[in-house]
Amino acid sequence: MIQLYQPLNFLGMIYREIKQSLIDIEAMFAILARNPEIEDRKGAKPLELKGAAIRFEDVRFSYDPEREILKGVSFEVPAGQTVAIVGPSGAGKSTISRLLYRFYDVASGRITVDGQDIRDITQESLRAAIGMVPQDTVLFNDTLAYNIRYGRPGAGDAEVERAAELAQIDGFVKRTPKGYATEVGERGLKLSGGEKQRVAIARTILKDPAILLLDEATSALDSHTEREIQDALERVSRGRTTLVVAHRLSTVVGADEIIVLEHGRIAERGTHAELMARRGLYHSMWQRQREVDEAKATLSRGEDDL
Ligand code: ATP
Repeated sequence: MIQLYQPLNFLGMIYREIKQSLIDIEAMFAILARNPEIEDRKGAKPLELKGAAIRFEDVRFSYDPEREILKGVSFEVPAGQTVAIVGPSGAGKSTISRLLYRFYDVASGRITVDGQDIRDITQESLRAAIGMVPQDTVLFNDTLAYNIRYGRPGAGDAEVERAAELAQIDGFVKRTPKGYATEVGERGLKLSGGEKQRVAIARTILKDPAILLLDEATSALDSHTEREIQDALERVSRGRTTLVVAHRLSTVVGADEIIVLEHGRIAERGTHAELMARRGLYHSMWQRQREVDEAKATLSRGEDDL
């Protein structure tokens, strides 16, 4: 009997582990995303945060040796300021955010936070300093409260609700059948892209990081939702060093500096007004977006007439 019991017990343990990892999809993705080549250097020290200024110094990077994605990129995000990266699809914008989070290491050049090369500090301390609002937030199969609290597991109910308010998701939560106790995810309530993004913002508010890394969703949101998310993000980014990877131009107008990336190089940089006056790539991207917006508006007016 004992001979049979042991393997069964073992199988039971494996089953529980698999089940747990399926529930914690995000944790699983984090494990999968972890690049085993990225390790803490011997003697790596925790990041010493001052104002959380970020610098990219002549950064080069490629996923595979034949194709260089970043070809010598240098810029700075001064402490507490906001820099936005824009540019055509495939220019290397999201790659910049992956390098800052140290999913990969640069091939040459360096990235520093408050003067410390991110390869010399522990990954744990680097990631603790960064609040990431990703393109697609994966939710746990658990309650809304659990999903928001994930930003800081020790947070009390009042703090969770305050974060939800700031992220403008509290109205939605209150309309769900069980409020904060509503189950979401695979077997529960399905959330839209905009709602998921606001859950991610609420998590980030709870985490209270010095650096905010926003990788904007490429999926189109309706203009009301977009404005709500924009307001929430503006509130969160105040006073934090913020790097925005922007796929929509409307969200970058207020940035302290806009970096226009093209084929892995910085093609233009400046404020919105400066770049518009230049009448270069940024200006033509705006023109194109305006045409698309106008075409959409005409289309929806046409649908209303039907
Ligand atoms: P988009 O606006 O479309 O999201 P992007 O400017 O953010 O584009 P990146 O995601 O940084 O672009 O990708 C830059 C280039 O690197 C693309 O050509 C992409 O195909 C390639 N790339 C991205 N991730 C990988 C990867 N894991 N392995 C190999 N190539 C990759």
